[in-house]
Amino acid sequence: MQSILELSNIDYYYHTVSGETKALSNISFSVTPGEFVAIVGPSGCGKSTLLSLIAGLLTPSNGEISYHEHPIAPEDTRQIGYMLQKDHLLEWRTIKKNVLLGLEIQKKLTVDTLSYVEQLLDTYGLSSFADKHPSELSGGMRQRAALIRTLVLKPDLLLLDEPFSALDYQTRLNVSNDIGNIIRKEHKTAILVTHDLSEAISMGDRIIVLSSRPGRIRRIIPIQFSQELTPMEKRNASEFKHYFNMIWKEFERNG
Ligand code: ADP
Repeated sequence: MQSILELSNIDYYYHTVSGETKALSNISFSVTPGEFVAIVGPSGCGKSTLLSLIAGLLTPSNGEISYHEHPIAPEDTRQIGYMLQKDHLLEWRTIKKNVLLGLEIQKKLTVDTLSYVEQLLDTYGLSSFADKHPSELSGGMRQRAALIRTLVLKPDLLLLDEPFSALDYQTRLNVSNDIGNIIRKEHKTAILVTHDLSEAISMGDRIIVLSSRPGRIRRIIPIQFSQELTPMEKRNASEFKHYFNMIWKEFERNG
């Protein structure tokens, strides 16, 4: 299958007054349409840097990034949606107005896009909160609104940068299940970076394990469960423990 994204031999160095820091070393992998790839690694190993490179916010020091089999161009990054740890909802706007923000900025407010917004708010249980302000919603609902704000732009690729780490443990389990299910239902291609192994195993089709800085690929592990399960159900499946132990061992030999 054609890849949607391909990284070949990527290195990245940060340059500061105190010197040079190598953040990533020789990163190569590809992502196919509809795939959910989770990238795990210790804090500071370069996960956010990797997403910033894919989003076009940084340029690789070495190597190439291809998008739909062509070198990635600035206009391609408009097809890429970003979801961050903080939901960045604007407190003075209602949920609906927050969700419409990207469409307004891109001058894409039409009857069709508005009806898609209504449909997403309805499908994902936010219709009755459309006129509320973000402060009136729970952390989980806010993240759902943030995802819908990204989805209304119909991104080709979703980048999720530790999107649940600001939530308490129980909310985090529910929200990651919720967001994982929405991404599957909308048939989106996604890359999640996280330091949480369980989150990666419960959401990903494939896990890329990075070493500590400079981040190098330790191992790429395909994740398969014997039947179709939600992220929450996967956490209780017998395969889960097997993958957890396998990736934990990779972490332990991490240097
Ligand atoms: P992660 O997301 O895995 O925690 P980051 O991608 O944020 O890691 O950072 C990778 C490494 O690059 C870190 O160890 C950090 O020291 C370094 N780094 C990140 N941002 C900068 C910056 N703006 N300037 C210099 N070094 C940076």
